[in-house]
Amino acid sequence: MQEIKFYSGENIPLELHKVRIVQKLHLVSVERRLEALKEGGFNTFRLSTKDVFLDMLTDSGTNAMSDNQLAAMMRADDAYAGSQSFDRLQKSVEHVLDKKYLLPVHQGRAAENILSVAYVKKGSLIPMNYHFTTAMAHITDKGGQIAELLYDEAYVINSSCPFKGNMNIEKLEEVIRTHGAENIPFIRMEASTNLIGGQPFSIQNLRDVRAIADKYGIRLVLDASLLGENAYLILQREEEFRNSDMATVVKAMTGLADLCYFSARKLSSSRGGGICTNDIKIFKELEAFIPLYEGFLTYGGMSIREVEAMAVGLYEVLDESSISQSPRFIKYLVEQLDSKDIPVVKPAGVLGVHVDAMNFCSHIPQQQYPAGALAAALFLISGVRGMERGTMSNQRDENGVEPMSDMELLRLAVPRRVFTLSQIKYVEDRLTWLFENRHLIGGLKFVEEPPVLRFFMGKLAPLSDWPEKLMAKFKEDFGNSL
Ligand SMILES: *Cc1c(COP(=O)(O)O)cnc(C)c1O
Repeated sequence: MQEIKFYSGENIPLELHKVRIVQKLHLVSVERRLEALKEGGFNTFRLSTKDVFLDMLTDSGTNAMSDNQLAAMMRADDAYAGSQSFDRLQKSVEHVLDKKYLLPVHQGRAAENILSVAYVKKGSLIPMNYHFTTAMAHITDKGGQIAELLYDEAYVINSSCPFKGNMNIEKLEEVIRTHGAENIPFIRMEASTNLIGGQPFSIQNLRDVRAIADKYGIRLVLDASLLGENAYLILQREEEFRNSDMATVVKAMTGLADLCYFSARKLSSSRGGGICTNDIKIFKELEAFIPLYEGFLTYGGMSIREVEAMAVGLYEVLDESSISQSPRFIKYLVEQLDSKDIPVVKPAGVLGVHVDAMNFCSHIPQQQYPAGALAAALFLISGVRGMERGTMSNQRDENGVEPMSDMELLRLAVPRRVFTLSQIKYVEDRLTWLFENRHLIGGLKFVEEPPVLRFFMGKLAPLSDWPEKLMAKFKEDFGNSL
């Protein structure tokens, strides 16, 4: 895509769409935000959107639909079996992802469940570039294990490595040799590795993984939930594809995998999900599980309206000006924050901006959840809701010991086509103020800790009256401003 240059020389990610449906936001007072935090146990998952100004919790199911998607939803053909809407989805999958056979599922994790039920058993090992929470949970639930095979540079926060999502090829071969190919039902590659900052892999790396999969006769599975953005970054960063286009890159990626699955809550800016393949044998192995777990084979637990929205949304993945909007905003915000020495994961990835809380709040020990504390502090002083991705999101082991996370990140998601640049600038402004006042942020402790996935519904409390002190400083500096 041609970058649009500004006469002033400023590097501005111009929106190439217009907004025709608006939803009013609520920017409530700082006092109300403190109350909301207390009611929600200082956990951003427990906040109500009536108190949230910019919701940067996730990019899942929160993306803006296009006029064409909404129009398609109106013509949805509601039928239990043989819906024409499903035919349209199938055509779209074939055109965009180049896969003939499609199994619909109600969301991404449902695809992971079916793959695990079909292929994972006790003693299985699944090599992957990096785990995603639900992918790992389904594999371990069936008695399998995962092996994460990123290169060391993937864990470097301040990096210029263009493909931090690449799989370590030497390690992959070593793992296959020691564990035995017969115990490895598939290799899983995740496009734009979500949990390490939305970092892409290169086509060359995927080709290398494919070669090893072929050598040992192992299936290659692509988690394509964040495929469009990974493909966009390949166009930006991989020399061989500099003059290529989205359709070519997307096909090159899916063509290397035996099977692709995706969360349509991200890919295609709708909801639902799918599994697709050109291998009739794989299709037959998985087919029977769809009516068992999801619904009939022409809706898979989805509303038919979502099936239509997905069919259209998939074509829009190939529209570079549409798919690039979120990554360009992310790049802009990362560059602005970095220029002020605010620690963020670099290079800019997809799905959101990831603030390095270990460094931002270096005075808060990991046991006191620096990323969770930073998420609460940012909400307090701005109404911006992010998500903790660090130790709070980890689970205790069987002895009750809490493993410390590799990284302590505050993720600020940038849902597709949702925010405007002035809103992004507001985030930059408030984060800048918070960075200057970071010594006022204190730690948190759990007061109600669920045994499973505690970060979703757990309640925490501040270890001192730091939220009140932070609020007082905010009021001193901002006066009557919200
Ligand atoms: C969100 C996501 C999933 C799970 O999808 P859901 O629709 O939330 O169940 C799986 N893999 C990746 C990479 C994701 O980002």
